[in-house]
Amino acid sequence: MKTANDIWVLGDYRNYFQSRVTLQILARAKHLAARTGGQVCAVVFGHQMDEYVGEYLAHGADRVLLMDDPALKRYSIETYSFLLTRLVETHRPETLLVGATRFGQEIAPRVAKQLKTGLTADCIDLEIDESGRLVQIAPSFGGNLVARIITPTKRPQMATVRPGTFQELVHDNRAKGEVIRLPLPKDMPKERIRCISSEYRPSKTKGIEQADIVITGGRGMGSKGKFKKLFELAAIMNGEVGATRPVVFSNWIGHEALVGQAGKSIRPKILFSFGISGAIQHTAALMDADFIVAINKNPNATMMKMADVAIVADANQVCSGIIRAIKEKIRD
Ligand SMILES: Cc1cc2nc3c(=O)[nH]c(=O)nc-3n(C[C@H](O)[C@H](O)[C@H](O)COP(=O)(O)OP(=O)(O)OC[C@H]3O[C@@H](n4cnc5c(N)ncnc54)[C@H](O)[C@@H]3O)c2cc1C
Repeated sequence: MKTANDIWVLGDYRNYFQSRVTLQILARAKHLAARTGGQVCAVVFGHQMDEYVGEYLAHGADRVLLMDDPALKRYSIETYSFLLTRLVETHRPETLLVGATRFGQEIAPRVAKQLKTGLTADCIDLEIDESGRLVQIAPSFGGNLVARIITPTKRPQMATVRPGTFQELVHDNRAKGEVIRLPLPKDMPKERIRCISSEYRPSKTKGIEQADIVITGGRGMGSKGKFKKLFELAAIMNGEVGATRPVVFSNWIGHEALVGQAGKSIRPKILFSFGISGAIQHTAALMDADFIVAINKNPNATMMKMADVAIVADANQVCSGIIRAIKEKIRD
């Protein structure tokens, strides 16, 4: 199997219906591989994985390296990192990309350490420079800087990628690729950690990174009590609520709702922005929103200048007004 210049993407399927991060990375990998001349390869460990293999091929993988075995049914960090390290040592891909999920944040540093290579965590973009090297773009120094990082000599070039950063490719049923089924190595390590039981708790919502409608609120909402109105609006619009850092720090909403360099990137079809000034650390993560409606008392706020529709008004009054109008429409 020829692997020079290849870009590998670790299949993270464990929260598949909420997290499309692997598909998003495959799309970017396809774009990068077109520049380097390599192939995109998804690496999958687990049991009864055919459905995911088909999905990865339909979303841009040229090849899937698959270890499908009952022994891999339950995720074990020791086993999975051993297998991934071994595969990389054997096939020597140029690049290895992993989603910056909890799973990815656990496995990627271990594999990078075992391979004695570098790892850029939580990338918000990936490019190829004129020498064909991967440019790993990630917030650093607490989000004050966006760093462009390369791995000059060590291989593979490794990065974890923030969910929601890239747009997945359209599912292509006719896409063809190679599936290479590999046996488990004979020298598998004995697991030192034994999982006694586990429970799958699907998230009740699809999350702001996936949502078509996102309603974000900032300090201009005034108080935790007033901020709650945004949840009501989101519920009737079938949207998700996001927030700025001061709001999260004031505990009006959990950290999972933070939009920005220190939080999540979003790409909704419609974004409502209530009482948000539009600091770069926030707006950097919503550049891909299709349509923005901003509500702010200050017409000169950056967020208002970015918006497709800018409403100069009190954020609470507008929020209540929209809720009332929708409810009346539903009643009619
Ligand atoms: C290292 C670092 C990382 C950061 N990372 C992030 C990040 O990931 N995400 C993030 O969001 N921020 C981040 N920040 C903070 C960021 O710089 C801003 O401070 C923050 O985004 C501002 O939040 P805000 O718009 O809610 O508040 P403010 O800047 O205080 O803006 C409030 C807005 O509400 C308007 N307003 C006030 N009252 C009303 C009213 N009644 N009706 C309508 N409008 C009203 C005001 O005119 C103003 O425009 C970071 C900062 C640093 C230093």
